Amino acid sequence: MRSPDEELADLEARHLRRVLRRIDSPQQPTVCMAGREYLNFSSNDYLGLANDERLKSAMVEGVERFGVGSGASRLVCGTQGPHSELESALAAFKHAEAALTFSSGYATAVGALSALMGKGDVIILDKLCHASLIDGSRLSGATLRVYPHNDLDKLASHLEWAKKQTESTSARVLVVTESVFSMDGDRAALAEIVALKERHGAWLMLDEAHAFGVIGPSGRGLGAELGIEDGRIDLQMGTLSKAAGLSGGYLCASRSLIDLLINRARSFIYSTAPAPSLAFAARASIDLIAGDAGDDLRRRLWARVNQFAEGLGVSAESAIVPVILGSNEAALNAAEALKESGFLIPAIRYPTVPRGQARLRVTLSAAHSAEQVNALLAAWGSSKS
Ligand SMILES: *Cc1c(COP(=O)(O)O)cnc(C)c1O
Repeated sequence: MRSPDEELADLEARHLRRVLRRIDSPQQPTVCMAGREYLNFSSNDYLGLANDERLKSAMVEGVERFGVGSGASRLVCGTQGPHSELESALAAFKHAEAALTFSSGYATAVGALSALMGKGDVIILDKLCHASLIDGSRLSGATLRVYPHNDLDKLASHLEWAKKQTESTSARVLVVTESVFSMDGDRAALAEIVALKERHGAWLMLDEAHAFGVIGPSGRGLGAELGIEDGRIDLQMGTLSKAAGLSGGYLCASRSLIDLLINRARSFIYSTAPAPSLAFAARASIDLIAGDAGDDLRRRLWARVNQFAEGLGVSAESAIVPVILGSNEAALNAAEALKESGFLIPAIRYPTVPRGQARLRVTLSAAHSAEQVNALLAAWGSSKS
């Protein structure tokens, strides 16, 4: 039997061993680690809400009014007022019939995919889909087909194949993609994907984890930006853990699909409901994101994104700007050099990204100042010369 230490040594030798970094301050542009301050350009707190005073007050009010624990799973007696109100607010915000929340985006993907899809069904995924979408698809037992990133011809031929496989059966065919890809920051060819899935009578699950709060009118996501969210995207998934500043996952869909998930999604059924204070604060976060304050934060975020992308001479389609370095060692060295200069941008390696595409994944936030982005650009320039 191979020992855990042998396995760790093997990871170490391949520059793939990961370790936890302890941060001793709230999530914000300046964080404290081991007694030193760093400028953080690696969090998904795109709107700077993780330490927002308004949401902190909402969380405290939620604790005062509803306590700290939810007591049980949602189906037993864990559904409290804040959970229901959060789901109504999410459905209204996303112009959907209904919404369901989960304890995380990961639990949402795994629960929904394994509940709705099964043996004999077909799931067609973009190659760069997030681990949660892959894990849920595998768990479902459905037949999986993967298309190269945004390759519409290959998607069309998979859909053609799936249609033949499932014709004259009640089997389901589901296309799964992210709207903004988590490690590349680029966008799905969503309008074309929607047209293709409609032509072939398939469903679409769209993961808006990195678009929610950031892209589209009121931050409603890429579907809304393209004017195709209403009724044309069967399953709109997202997370409250990124721009919303908290944690938790959601799915918006038809009332029947949501009712089916309440009955079948095991990560929803067999897990204690999130704390009511969290749901209460998440509701406040949705209100903030949807309102003028949200528009203001998005303006600031996009100003920083454009400033950084222009400084680097690249184009950016989201708050994520990757700099691909290739080898694990190169990425680790670059991250270490930036850390020496006071910047926190950990290396992202396989299996989070494909082999040979290790990178620094820079993320911008509305909370960053123009000076902080300039400081990063300067450090970046001098690290190359
Ligand atoms: C982060 C992420 C998730 C998981 O969401 P959590 O709330 O962090 O569990 C799902 N999908 C994508 C694309 C993500 O980036």
